[in-house]
Amino acid sequence: MKIICIGRNYSDHAKELNNPVPEKPIFFLKPDTALLPKRNPFYYPKFTNDLHYECELVLKICKVGKNISKRFAHTYYDSIGLGIDFTARDLQEECKTKGLPWEIAKAFENSAPLSNFFIPKEELDLNDIQFSLLKNGALVQEGNSKDMIFDIDSIIVYVSQFMSLKIGDIIFTGTPAGVGPIKIGDKLTGFIGDQEMFSLNIK
Ligand code: MG
Repeated sequence: MKIICIGRNYSDHAKELNNPVPEKPIFFLKPDTALLPKRNPFYYPKFTNDLHYECELVLKICKVGKNISKRFAHTYYDSIGLGIDFTARDLQEECKTKGLPWEIAKAFENSAPLSNFFIPKEELDLNDIQFSLLKNGALVQEGNSKDMIFDIDSIIVYVSQFMSLKIGDIIFTGTPAGVGPIKIGDKLTGFIGDQEMFSLNIK
């Protein structure tokens, strides 16, 4: 399986990092080794001094497809979860400045923890999914799918022009404003609505 991550999909987050609001989706990949076994702690990596959380809604792909049309896009994912797109912001800034790829900043081991479960999409209003992230019990990020620049179906259409989607693939749909650093000892708790999706200890 592969993990596809959309960048800059909320204009308030693009602005906080001084990035232009994109005219088409931006995406990058993480390998399957970026997953974190459920309920494991996350170990702060040695190669960064500025590790940031980015809390994001996540899609699970349920059907193989390429060049998917907008009309059928909704049939290619069946459930929605929540995840963290961990980012070594210091390394990413260096990569951006030098025009280098982002893998060392984004695709490292355990950099894509997922929620303990996914919610069947029929149980959600896809255009109004509210989600939030708490750090040590304090609200740090709050988002809603209605504020996405490119909605879920548009993401499916766009990405599938370039690569096939396969069953079990995961798509991170971008983070709202409020990204920030973590340190050892912190606890991140993610919610969709008022339902706790994950609780992650940083060690
Ligand atoms: Mg992200």
